[in-house]
Amino acid sequence: MAAQEFDVVVIGAGPAGAAAAATAAAAGLNVALIDHKTFPRDKLCGGLITGRSLRYFEEIFDEPLSVDPLERKDRIAFSYQGRPLGVIDDAPPLYLSMRWDLDHYLVRRAVARGAADMTGQAVAVLDMPARRVVLKDGRHIGYGVLIGADGVNSMVARALYGKSFDRARIGFGLEIEAPREESPEAAGIQVDIAAARWGYGWCFPKGCSTTIGVGGLLAENHDMKAAMSAYLAGQGIDAEACRFRGQFLPFGDYRKNPGNGNVLLVGDAAGLVDPITGEGIAYAMKSGQIAALAAADAILQRRPDTALKEYRYRLRPIHRSLRIANMLRPLIFRRGFQRGFERAFRSSSTVRRQFLKLLAGEVEYGAILAACVWRLPRLLRLMLPSRDPR
Ligand SMILES: Cc1cc2nc3c(=O)[nH]c(=O)nc-3n(C[C@H](O)[C@H](O)[C@H](O)COP(=O)(O)OP(=O)(O)OC[C@H]3O[C@@H](n4cnc5c(N)ncnc54)[C@H](O)[C@@H]3O)c2cc1C
Repeated sequence: MAAQEFDVVVIGAGPAGAAAAATAAAAGLNVALIDHKTFPRDKLCGGLITGRSLRYFEEIFDEPLSVDPLERKDRIAFSYQGRPLGVIDDAPPLYLSMRWDLDHYLVRRAVARGAADMTGQAVAVLDMPARRVVLKDGRHIGYGVLIGADGVNSMVARALYGKSFDRARIGFGLEIEAPREESPEAAGIQVDIAAARWGYGWCFPKGCSTTIGVGGLLAENHDMKAAMSAYLAGQGIDAEACRFRGQFLPFGDYRKNPGNGNVLLVGDAAGLVDPITGEGIAYAMKSGQIAALAAADAILQRRPDTALKEYRYRLRPIHRSLRIANMLRPLIFRRGFQRGFERAFRSSSTVRRQFLKLLAGEVEYGAILAACVWRLPRLLRLMLPSRDPR
């Protein structure tokens, strides 16, 4: 059967795929956006939108993010395994959304820019040597560059590497949507920085419900359900009455070489999630954008096989941040350092503010590393148990 030809085919229409399709269309490319789900669709996620996500959205879509609802939160309470660590009332703003609304909004933006809407279409065959995708409805779709934006269980990554991710290094998160009881204005965000091993717990109150979850490295959390039940108990919620939903989450294990020739992986499919905060929406959109720009360059030069080389070059700032985050995270999560981090967090408003800025996407890891090195003696003093003055 003759294939319908596109410059770029994007598989997966989450934040990474929508950003890729919108960027490719704006660059004048003929682009198809495929997703096996019909939108709006659900996606397990806290829905926390950071300053970084807002900046990237505006850069990519040329307008401020105006998804409805998007709730601003300025108050955040930290705890450590349920023990209060402090409340910050004038936090850098954090925003909460539901992925049901956000992702539908992003897809609509990509389609409005000219991407062919192939959501609700499952892929039957991915034929990389022939550079075509066969949809379940029988249509053949040819491409110059393929962008795999199909999330953590990526079929494109599986076709390239035999598996979507490494089970020994993947993260896992559990969530529930709890009914709202108070007014949305009154309730701030809560984060427990030790609710799971090498991970944390979150409570994000939104207008319609409160998203509560725990997540961390799978290999370090042999009983994530127990961690979730304990966290819920601390919130006064009986875990027995809840239905947990779970999903894998790349957590520090990003792909150094995300693709092959004219096939590029973006977002979760490339493992681009912050290994300390678990933030993935911002890097998903940014990697989608730069993959599409790399594809546009390669196609313009009639050398689609060079797309990966260009994409890797443009990905370097994100990879650098993830590399530094991987270096720093033992200071927060490793058993021997954890109590020290709790002490530093409890006693130093600077440590709390820096962590908050990190969570809000207002500071990059390069700056944090520099600050840590510069203030190493003070940091060590804060992390060590205080001596009895006698
Ligand atoms: C429990 C949990 C909480 C999180 N909380 C936050 C948070 O608060 N803030 C934040 O920034 N990040 C958070 N993340 C991370 C964030 O959800 C991801 O990093 C982000 O969704 C990645 O976007 P993506 O576009 O790469 O993939 P996805 O959003 O997963 O989108 C992938 C798309 O591909 C489609 N797809 C999959 N397979 C196929 C196929 N075979 N054919 C066609 N289509 C396919 C899917 O239907 C989906 O629409 C959280 C993750 C988890 C697991």
